[in-house]
Amino acid sequence: MEKPQYGRVILKISGEALAGNQGFGLEHNMLTTVARQVAEIRALGVEVCVVVGGGNLWRGIAGSAQGMDRATADYMGMLATVMNALALQDALEKAGSDTRVLSAIEMRQVAEPYIRRRAIRHMEKGRIVIFAAGTGNPYFSTDTTAALRAAEIEAEVILMAKKVDGVYDSDPVKNPQAKKFDRLSYLEVLSRGLGVMDSTATSLCMDNNIPVIVFDLTKEGNIKRVVLGESIGTYVGR
Ligand code: UDP
Repeated sequence: MEKPQYGRVILKISGEALAGNQGFGLEHNMLTTVARQVAEIRALGVEVCVVVGGGNLWRGIAGSAQGMDRATADYMGMLATVMNALALQDALEKAGSDTRVLSAIEMRQVAEPYIRRRAIRHMEKGRIVIFAAGTGNPYFSTDTTAALRAAEIEAEVILMAKKVDGVYDSDPVKNPQAKKFDRLSYLEVLSRGLGVMDSTATSLCMDNNIPVIVFDLTKEGNIKRVVLGESIGTYVGR
């Protein structure tokens, strides 16, 4: 029997990852690969919750750059994450998983409200919890949501799923000489301005000693590899 390294994890999936090669919206193949991979680690006995982003549909900062009120644009971004959460729920249930969407903005017809104790109870019952609507506050990101929820529900690690296989010192798409880091400290991430996650999220992880593993979601089986302790991607910790 394969032995997972973690009992409870938060998987952060950016909206961009869900868009796959389309660059916008939702790519069916990405939803199904995520669903299969999540079901795989749930089958190992790992308690899983997912924080979904919304950047494939809308980003608050883009709206505000066009002159829109930033808070309004951010609420639109949070609503975008709810659409992604519902799409992911559908894919997970088609893959045979039991799921619940918990929204930080009350929306009773489509999701349960976020209640910390309820989230923990769902996970204990084997359900996959999807956190929607970010933190419920403008000026934050879903990376910060992942850090916040990880602290609240005592997740042991944040699995930061990306379309690249880790953190590099420069963009590996533009620079073939870019160097990949196997391990980084929170302070290195902050001082070098590395694009792991935003500084609010990094600080929250640092203050609460929550490790983050950045890895490539597009390679089937990678979530399981990370959970089993294989050193793929980049580990960010103390
Ligand atoms: N957002 C927000 N508060 C939160 C989480 C998200 O205002 O707590 C908004 C923000 O406008 C952001 C958008 O939702 O641009 C989508 O989230 P994010 O950019 O984090 O998604 P990702 O980059 O992971 O796809």
